[in-house]
Amino acid sequence: MHRATKIVATIGPASTSPDILLQMLQAGLDVVRFNFSHGTADDHRQRAEIVREAARQVGREVAIMADLQGPKIRVGKFENNKTMLVAGNTFILDANCTLGNNDRVGLDYRDLPRDLRAGDVLLLNDGLIVLDVTRVIGEEIHTVVKVGGELSNNKGINRQGGGLTAPALTEKDMEDIKTAMSLGADFVAVSFPKNATDMEMARQLANIAGAPYGIKPKMIAKIERAEAIPALQGILDASDGIMVARGDLAVEVGNAAVPALQKRMIRMARESNKLVITATQMMESMIHAPVPTRAEVSDVANAVLDGTDAVMLSAETAAGKYPVTTIETMAAVCIEAEKSEESQLDRDFLDRTFTRIDQSIAMGALFTAYHLGAKAVVALTESGSTALWMSRHWSHVPIFALTPRVSSERTMSLYRNVTPLHVDTNMDRDAALNQALEVVVSKGYAARGDMVVLTVGEPMGQAGGTNTLKIVRVGDHF
Ligand code: PGA
Ligand code: MN
Repeated sequence: MHRATKIVATIGPASTSPDILLQMLQAGLDVVRFNFSHGTADDHRQRAEIVREAARQVGREVAIMADLQGPKIRVGKFENNKTMLVAGNTFILDANCTLGNNDRVGLDYRDLPRDLRAGDVLLLNDGLIVLDVTRVIGEEIHTVVKVGGELSNNKGINRQGGGLTAPALTEKDMEDIKTAMSLGADFVAVSFPKNATDMEMARQLANIAGAPYGIKPKMIAKIERAEAIPALQGILDASDGIMVARGDLAVEVGNAAVPALQKRMIRMARESNKLVITATQMMESMIHAPVPTRAEVSDVANAVLDGTDAVMLSAETAAGKYPVTTIETMAAVCIEAEKSEESQLDRDFLDRTFTRIDQSIAMGALFTAYHLGAKAVVALTESGSTALWMSRHWSHVPIFALTPRVSSERTMSLYRNVTPLHVDTNMDRDAALNQALEVVVSKGYAARGDMVVLTVGEPMGQAGGTNTLKIVRVGDHF
């Protein structure tokens, strides 16, 4: 069954065994996310080996996404590992406190008191606990508990409305970028970027760290701060893609604002020729249950209909009881949702402007394939950009992207509606295209007599060199 929408899943204790990971790949996992908020560099390196080995066994390239922890602001630890906050009582966040108790707790971001003033609202533990700031005295933030609950070690802190000044990349992130490059990560996801500059800086660091390994990773901006919303276009321009990181975003902008923001972010990403991943709590109940809720099914389906490249799993696969079933279920929901999509090139397709030759061929190929009723587009591509441009539009024509570059093959595994295929570097053009046609036919996408649209660059082997569009009937060639 063809599935256009890709699945990103986080690995963790529930999914690190080679056998489970293999089953997850067989169930349709496309991109493996490493959460650098947990685990040591050695853990990540071992996991990377397991991923590469499992990918080899299923016979396709699988991308690795290194998700940096970023400047998530957290409370410190407690004497008894936790405390109970009661509405109406006072509580102090104290940058000088080393071990918390029932009155106060420490902070890992010592500058937090300088960012806050009376009247601010703090949300702890993903918004489950709400504190009203009454005054800031030196290093102490005095609050009154508005919504109470249990607060345990190292829980996150957000300010309603955003605006905390912690820099986007921490010392730990810089170390983690090096680890990520040493294990060959294809994507780096940056947490809490505020603007384009944060992403530019992260890309520069990643390119420097990746140079010894010949890696220039694709950069994904996690949109999870209130300030990132007005800066979204700049962030998109500076990144290869974004993640709709609904967990922290919902805490900063309020739950109710997130669904409309998700639609806007997905639309803007596609219009900017960038990738987009929809993340967090998509199948949350499957951490404990073998079936999702109706609301979760709708959520995944709606992200597909919004046009996301990928849907993401976090704790469901990292720490849940049913990692494989969750992926199977998600895949089935995507396939069903895709069937109901409007099969129409978006109306603004003809209004798009472009000046590049390769982009013109890509758009021409898609337009031609759509109107001729071709069964597939086959693109011979070095960097993957031809496939990226074509996959930004709804055409319902599956795109097969042939590339000699393993890195392109891996990154294209995130692109909606794109099936990456490997082609030998030294193969001549016709042999490569014939091989691709054979794959398209053997997978059942096209049969004798069907039309397939091909794009290539002549001479072959140059990134950005696509300049030729060809239409063939299956059977003419083999
Ligand atoms: P996280 O990011 O899981 O790393 O916090 C995703 C989110 O905030 O939604
Ligand atoms: Mn987050």
